[in-house]
Amino acid sequence: MSIEAREFIRRFEEFCPLWLAEEGDPVGFHIGTLDKPVNRIMMTLDVRPEVVQEAITKKVDLIVAKHPPIFRPIKRLTADDPQTAMYMELVKHDIAVYAAHTNMDIIHDGLNDWFCEMLGVKADDYMTRTHVEGLKKLVVYVPEDAAEQMRQALGDAGAGQQGAYHHTSYTMQGQGRFTPTAAAQPAIGHPDVPENVPEARIEVIFPEKRQGQILQAMFAAHPYEEPAYDLISLANDPVTYGIGRVGNLAEPMSIETFCERVKEVFALEGLRLVEPPRNAKKTVQRIAICGGSGGNFYLDALAKRADVYITGDVYYHTAHDMQAHGLTVIDPGHNIERVCIPRFIEKMNAWKEEQNWDVSFVASETNTNPFQYR
Ligand SMILES: [Zn+2]
Repeated sequence: MSIEAREFIRRFEEFCPLWLAEEGDPVGFHIGTLDKPVNRIMMTLDVRPEVVQEAITKKVDLIVAKHPPIFRPIKRLTADDPQTAMYMELVKHDIAVYAAHTNMDIIHDGLNDWFCEMLGVKADDYMTRTHVEGLKKLVVYVPEDAAEQMRQALGDAGAGQQGAYHHTSYTMQGQGRFTPTAAAQPAIGHPDVPENVPEARIEVIFPEKRQGQILQAMFAAHPYEEPAYDLISLANDPVTYGIGRVGNLAEPMSIETFCERVKEVFALEGLRLVEPPRNAKKTVQRIAICGGSGGNFYLDALAKRADVYITGDVYYHTAHDMQAHGLTVIDPGHNIERVCIPRFIEKMNAWKEEQNWDVSFVASETNTNPFQYR
């Protein structure tokens, strides 16, 4: 049995929420409908006419793309423009399109973390912090025999994730007292008879944006008609998110050796190196990286004392400014972001296993890099 597109997107957004995208970034659902069953979902960096043909050939029902296919508003929907003709092909073949863009750069265990991992950079900071999310605590009181299912449900909904641990909680035993009225339909007890039940007090902590799904899971798992619970805002350090990453290589190395590493890791034929005309770095160790098109963030790389800044699409005059500020920059091109394809396929297959979905995930094999080296 296939799954509903919407169900898949719900799980996707748990990992990669829309609220983490930068302001004005047209992320999310772009084309078609999510109210349909899907058998095949294709992951791609770009949605290009060749990618759409690939999706048609592979009988894909939903495309998940890093780059939003409708980035600027369109004024006409006609077949005489290649871009809009592509949208028409998608609609004609009932292929839905969903995009996760800057939120994919910002999420924890996201694209920039994967770049760091591949390059041997141990990230310890963001280039710029973008979002802060406070923590909350839920305290819920359940009959003791329902405690295990409650802990499981809360953990499954994302409560109690702490560093490398999940399903963390704390439980105390106590007595719950209540008297049902004649209007009640109590799970335990009878109208007008005071009741005394051995209950567990379960405490879990979670990031505040998850409150909706966690309360929903709590109500669904609770046997009582009127669950008793406390919701508390915490003054603990909040969860932070940011764009780009900064971190160190295990050992300092020459810029030449590091350029070779970048080329090898991303299978590049070449890259562009911007070096300051004076005092070029002899060795490098502290690396800032912002995949895609991060030329505008170079002052953050400087502020974080990076020896090298890696980003794509560096503009000629921006490169002059970088040089003038004494910053060394490696531009490996925007297309290195294609590493999101195998990484996401891996994640999606893990969700498939966890949710028991009958669906297959395919990686787009179309090369969407418009640039060649000659
Ligand atoms: Zn990009």
